[in-house]
Amino acid sequence: MAGVDLARLARRRYTEPGHPTPIERLDRLSAALGGPTIYVKRDDLLMGLAGGGNKVRKLEFLVAEALAQGADTLITTGAVQSNHCRLTLAAAVREGMRCRLILEERIPGSYDPGASGNNFLYQLLGAERIRVVPAGSDLVAEMEAEAADVAAAGRKAYVIPGGGSNAVGATGYVACAQELLYQAFEMGLRIDAIVCASGSAGTQAGLLAGLHGHHADIPVIGISVRSSRAEQEARVWELANRTAEHVGLRGEIPRERVVCLDDYVGPGYSIPTPGMVEAVRMVARTEAILLDPVYTGKAMAGLIDLVRRGRFSGSDHVLFLHTGGSPALFAYTGVFRGA
Ligand SMILES: *Cc1c(COP(=O)(O)O)cnc(C)c1O
Repeated sequence: MAGVDLARLARRRYTEPGHPTPIERLDRLSAALGGPTIYVKRDDLLMGLAGGGNKVRKLEFLVAEALAQGADTLITTGAVQSNHCRLTLAAAVREGMRCRLILEERIPGSYDPGASGNNFLYQLLGAERIRVVPAGSDLVAEMEAEAADVAAAGRKAYVIPGGGSNAVGATGYVACAQELLYQAFEMGLRIDAIVCASGSAGTQAGLLAGLHGHHADIPVIGISVRSSRAEQEARVWELANRTAEHVGLRGEIPRERVVCLDDYVGPGYSIPTPGMVEAVRMVARTEAILLDPVYTGKAMAGLIDLVRRGRFSGSDHVLFLHTGGSPALFAYTGVFRGA
């Protein structure tokens, strides 16, 4: 086995050494759907940073690089209810750094400084500055301007791209692939497919690079939460190859390994869909697991629909990657009232 030697890369630990996030079998959800056996990998339980979620794995590598460069301030960007912004800010607090956020108002008028969910946590965790910019702004330029402002004050900024999705951040999901393969081996679990949300692409790209590095050909079905299939697949493939190179793997990841379905986005990023509401409610009421309205709710809506359309056989084992996000539920309570 070629494998990937991640131990030579700088890493801060916000996860507990020797404690992989659990893989749980969801008997009640599987029975309710009457299809394959569904398992969940609980990356929502990566609680080393406030509120938890997939960005914790990425930030372990990103913040290590920031500290190595002598940075004292983290700058990043996201939507108005961004888990990534919340977790980057939490990492800054943990490291004694400061943090500035550029929030992209992807839906005009959607920023409300008094909103609950992640937005409330930006205030509670103490962001040094929050700047809201209109949809379609040049976010890289906005962050560079912020970094220049930090430098003018005699400090040093480290800029993290949206979602923490560059090769350094996606390395966190190379580590996750390694973790889950070992775990499945220990459990005697054959995984026939992995389903995950696909947004800024680092999660799916890192998983694909990690699986490739271990010669594991488990299909990964990404459920796009924003972009068209063609755009998202191109983004994931490009980042998967850059990530593979970053961790020292040779050879290109086959293009056909990259699958992103765009049937569950609905009217747009972060806009609720009936399938999302059904999925969040069903998983809450069968398994007492909290999904989120923007990512995992739509990803689970995708998995439920694929099961109903007979995409899997009854003997398949399908692993749903729970990437977190439940703090955002509290900004969407109205969507779930009734029924
Ligand atoms: C960011 C995020 C995702 C998407 O991960 P990407 O690496 O951006 O594709 C999925 N779920 C949650 C809860 C997230 O916050």
